[in-house]
Amino acid sequence: MNPERGNGGGDGAARPPGELWTVQRVLTWTANKFAERDKQPARLEAEVLLAHVLKMNRVSLYVNYERPLDPAELAAYRELVKRRLAGEPSAYLVGKQEFWALPLAVDARVLVPRRDTETLVETALELLGNSGVVAPRILDIGTGSGAIALALAKTRPDASVVATDVSADALEVAQVNAAALGLDDRVSFAEGDLAASASGPFNLVVSNPPYIRAGDLAGLMAEVRHEPRLALDGGADGLAVYRRLIPVAAGLLAEGGALALEIGAEQAAEVSALVSAAGLTAETRRDLARLDRVVIGRK
Ligand code: SAM
Repeated sequence: MNPERGNGGGDGAARPPGELWTVQRVLTWTANKFAERDKQPARLEAEVLLAHVLKMNRVSLYVNYERPLDPAELAAYRELVKRRLAGEPSAYLVGKQEFWALPLAVDARVLVPRRDTETLVETALELLGNSGVVAPRILDIGTGSGAIALALAKTRPDASVVATDVSADALEVAQVNAAALGLDDRVSFAEGDLAASASGPFNLVVSNPPYIRAGDLAGLMAEVRHEPRLALDGGADGLAVYRRLIPVAAGLLAEGGALALEIGAEQAAEVSALVSAAGLTAETRRDLARLDRVVIGRK
């Protein structure tokens, strides 16, 4: 899909089928281009973007393999491919990301929710289950798109959730998601630092705070550099937000309550120490890749 060329030169003349940019042909071209730039899995991403432009699901692409794109479709697709090659996450380009099987709207105002974070949701649900508490109160600090808060509210219909963020922009996205999922009656939002104006006690406090070392940010993949710095920057040693968050969260826990924090794979020892220093009993959980991913603190 040479950017200088397209199906139509405006002359409307039919072209031999071999020259047409069919679904099949643009997918192959784009997947190769993505693979060259090490965008994996290249084919899947090419399909996600094309399905978005053609307003069909990915399976339908295969049924429409020989269908040529019209000039407007080709132009729209070309634009997305260009932005993807420049590093914008696919989730921003199509405006959505699935998390915990929930369709979430996302854009550049929020972190793209990660699969790793489902480990935090699983851990949180297990802690709630073990506590035996009915109608638990949950606090999600730094909710971003609302991913964790909404996954918990969806899975625990008896729960009520307060979700905070220091970013008003992020909270707008989270609120749209809560309403779209019909969860806005049980998930409320508060703007501000850490717990913001939320008052305890909470049976569970969860957070996936920014935890990347400030000095490491510049070297990260292009995708990450398109995400809000506020969502990623954990200060000089990556622990700046944990240091302030853990004592605040511990102070908001109900008796028998627990804190569950996502961590970077190298941070288990340091975050556990902070959790213990706040008077909680620390424990670490791993993700699907067997990397340390969650630190729990039980009161
Ligand atoms: N919870 C979402 C998720 O897991 O996909 C977003 C996590 S993102 C890594 C961290 C979020 O914390 C961002 O939305 C950011 O705006 C927010 N944040 C950063 N510092 C904060 C603070 N001091 N108080 C509250 N939220 C903060």
